[in-house]
Amino acid sequence: MSQVFNKLFKNPTRNEIMAQFYRKPEHEWIRGDGRISKIFDMLITSLPTEYLNELFVKNETLFILQRERLSTVLCFSPKTRIILVFENLIDLIKTVNATQAVAVLAHELGHLVFKHDKRRPDNLQAQLEADMFAIRLGFAQDLLDFLSDQMKTHDLIMRIGQVQNYLSAA
Ligand SMILES: [Zn+2]
Repeated sequence: MSQVFNKLFKNPTRNEIMAQFYRKPEHEWIRGDGRISKIFDMLITSLPTEYLNELFVKNETLFILQRERLSTVLCFSPKTRIILVFENLIDLIKTVNATQAVAVLAHELGHLVFKHDKRRPDNLQAQLEADMFAIRLGFAQDLLDFLSDQMKTHDLIMRIGQVQNYLSAA
């Protein structure tokens, strides 16, 4: 009896959370491809417990594959959050630069963690905060490599500057 009780009320372990994440029907595209699931293993392993619980236990965060668009964006609904993952990210996962994709996904989780849907900071501020989340998870160099390959808009140059400052101070 007490075993059942413990099982019901104990926080799930990281492995249990990961197993549940991969079992979701929405995530079949992740578990069906070893290269893609490796990237998500890295992402989930990098998350401190606090964020792991916030994103995957207290709330539901889904990664939905989109076949027709170019980049990664977010949609929100009350309890379930959806991160749209576009084809170009999958293409990136299949190159030697696969770990850059983890930085991009960590950045998207940063938008959720900083509640940008509710606070609505200006776009550059939101991007910088989301980047800082990815940096803190340990993906600064991958993020820098990714950003350096993008079109150099004003905002992008500011974002690159933030990562470079972090890396030169580290
Ligand atoms: Zn962003």
